[in-house]
Amino acid sequence: MTAPPPPRKPWLAQLRRWGPPGLLAALIVGLSAWINLPVVDQVFGGSARRVAGLPALEAFRAGQRVLILSPHPDDETLCCAGLIQQARAAGARVSIAWITAGDGFEFDAALTQRTLRPGARNLRALGETRVLEARRAAAVLGVPAAQTYMLGYPDGGLLRLFTLHYATPYRAPRTDAAAVYVKGALSPGAPYTGQALEADLRRVLDKVQPDLVLAPAPQDFHSDHRTVSYLALRLLAETRQENRLRFWVVHGGLEWPVPKGLHPEQPLTVPPLASGLPWQRASLTPEQVGRKLEAVNIYRTQTRILGRFMHAFVRRNELLSPVALPPDPGHLTPEPESGPRPGAAP
Ligand SMILES: [Zn+2]
Repeated sequence: MTAPPPPRKPWLAQLRRWGPPGLLAALIVGLSAWINLPVVDQVFGGSARRVAGLPALEAFRAGQRVLILSPHPDDETLCCAGLIQQARAAGARVSIAWITAGDGFEFDAALTQRTLRPGARNLRALGETRVLEARRAAAVLGVPAAQTYMLGYPDGGLLRLFTLHYATPYRAPRTDAAAVYVKGALSPGAPYTGQALEADLRRVLDKVQPDLVLAPAPQDFHSDHRTVSYLALRLLAETRQENRLRFWVVHGGLEWPVPKGLHPEQPLTVPPLASGLPWQRASLTPEQVGRKLEAVNIYRTQTRILGRFMHAFVRRNELLSPVALPPDPGHLTPEPESGPRPGAAP
């Protein structure tokens, strides 16, 4: 005689009755809840608890020079609006360098320029608008225009400059530009080459003489962000100053940060693509969170389309890693011994 099978859970039995369409619907509802509802991570995720256990970031000091490298207008605010305010409050001097004008977002140009087929003219106009938004957002965060640098290289094209177009100019397909065109750029007319971009970054580093450089982490999903990360690592290594770098992520994978939308009482959790980095946490005051929201909302060309993604960065903390890569335990593991090594004493 065998024991009777355990009673099937009613919701599981219901799902089985519905078949594959029911399973698919349940999956969509579950995903949507995970992306949109804070309670899901609170109950199941545990990522908020991990953030609470992270070490606090070292406080900024008076006289420190802090440089934010921002691939696009808005990254500096999403990653670091709270840090910028804390640095300034401590008496540090904060500078921002935007590497591109954010002129590669066709859908955005279509919406803001009210055209179905945005051309080069529309995308250049979007770039000029985003440059103005960036300067206004910086002012909201207390960074004077004299401490901002717009480099104006092509949005979406930095990896090409770093690889195929180090010496020969790249023509950006969306703006039809092969040289820096935005008003107020650091080097107007500079060709779209990796060489020119590096030269501009060196100029900024020479001018700012930063003690700390806040740059994208190499794990960031966006190729422009990764390229800026590699460039920053290389340029600071030239002067043996790579220990001045701190890393942030904006495109962290798996819909991060969840839940989407404005949840300022929630923590910003560790980005899945860079979960192995030794993150440090900066806690923001409610006033700093409020000012960050104000700066995010300056980017009206972006918030119309990406508002829920951008607002998800307005949280009670920000995160920085002091190193670019997770520690590699493989380097610490001794190689397995299989007989005497060449050259070893018998
Ligand atoms: Zn970006």
